Amino acid sequence: MTAPIHPAGQPSLVYADTEGNITDFPPLLMAGNSAGSFVLPDREDFIPLPEGSELFVLQDRLPVGFEPDNHEALLLDTDPLRPGAPIQAVAAFMSPAHTAILTSAYQTQKNATRLPLFAYTAIGWYDDRFWTTAFRSDTDIRQDTAQFHQERINTETRKKLQQYKHNRLIQHLGKCCLTYACPAARNYFLGRWEAPLPTSPVCNARCVGCISLQASGKCSATQDRIAFVPTPAEITEVAAAHLQTAKRAIVSFGQGCEGEPLLQADTIEMAITAIRRKTDRGTINLNSNASLPKSLQRLAAAGLNSLRVSLNSAQEHFHTSYYRPQHFSLADVLTSIRVMKEAGKFVSLNYFVLPGVTDSYDEYNALRELLHTFRPDRIQLRNLNMDPEWYLRSIGFPEDTEAMGMRLWLTRIEEEFPRLQLGYYNPSIR
Ligand code: SF4
Repeated sequence: MTAPIHPAGQPSLVYADTEGNITDFPPLLMAGNSAGSFVLPDREDFIPLPEGSELFVLQDRLPVGFEPDNHEALLLDTDPLRPGAPIQAVAAFMSPAHTAILTSAYQTQKNATRLPLFAYTAIGWYDDRFWTTAFRSDTDIRQDTAQFHQERINTETRKKLQQYKHNRLIQHLGKCCLTYACPAARNYFLGRWEAPLPTSPVCNARCVGCISLQASGKCSATQDRIAFVPTPAEITEVAAAHLQTAKRAIVSFGQGCEGEPLLQADTIEMAITAIRRKTDRGTINLNSNASLPKSLQRLAAAGLNSLRVSLNSAQEHFHTSYYRPQHFSLADVLTSIRVMKEAGKFVSLNYFVLPGVTDSYDEYNALRELLHTFRPDRIQLRNLNMDPEWYLRSIGFPEDTEAMGMRLWLTRIEEEFPRLQLGYYNPSIR
């Protein structure tokens, strides 16, 4: 990986006016947020805003910055260019393969609505460009913006939708590709890398930040859940052809547009058996809340190659408060990791990163224990896609919890677990 670029000076605060125009305010230095504490970032925390990232204007939230001389945290509450005019805070929604070091620094106003289900990373301005506090966590280019050309995507997708009119799963993926611009669905239609295999309309958890179902209605889900269970034949038609032909081919059950795939273990078991009868090439992966170890044992025996376990925390009380599990617990999730490791399979943690929580000493020590005891092969450092303040309230995260900083956290994990892979994506393991 090429050495990251850092700014020669401290970036300034940026804010947005009522029309959404973003401006820098040099009298205040940009601040970051670590689970509620405002932090002045180090130069090494910054990288240029990655290509393909988006800038979000945060309704009913005012930006916080630091006074350059005494480093006092200060609130900017009106537009310095138009006295009295209201302003809003700004955050970066980074392109894939980048992990946050600090979130956006702001003060939420009374009666503010929840922020939508995205990640809100700190952003500032220096030397005519935007800088964010993050690091590239995977060199793999599979979801880099530069890899996607809309015209070719449209052509290839329409051709396959025409060819496979009878296959409901391919028709569903067509919507994911053309409506939601899902990178995994796009790569499927482009015949490369990782392809998605959603199967389950239902789930046995009620995650606070679920992106496919928000029952409260106080926050909208970012995509609809699949409404049917594809047949083993429909799944095999998608997967076998992809595994036989794609570069670094992976097919993954468990997508953002579905519930929990382990609830469809019978169908998936039959599909894996049928796929492996056609080809032994490529990786068959399952993204899951890992709630049902016995079902996983059957899928491993049928030929599942890898498991990705979604995990907000290695601490039981935070796991339970977030997943709101129906008849399973963190203990079952850990047993699932043991079952897959004992079957000689590859296990990743899909670890939701939130600065101030992930790098808190209690969370770090709980994760260390999990890594020593259950020996997963890889951690995928995914940003938590949720309003940070809503998340912290939902799990009852104590204020003023001490945190070491994400860069020190990374160094310590790398030093203590030298064989553990750190990345962002599911690896192709065959
Ligand atoms: S496990 Fe997945 S599908 Fe189920 S509630 Fe959680 S995020 Fe949603």
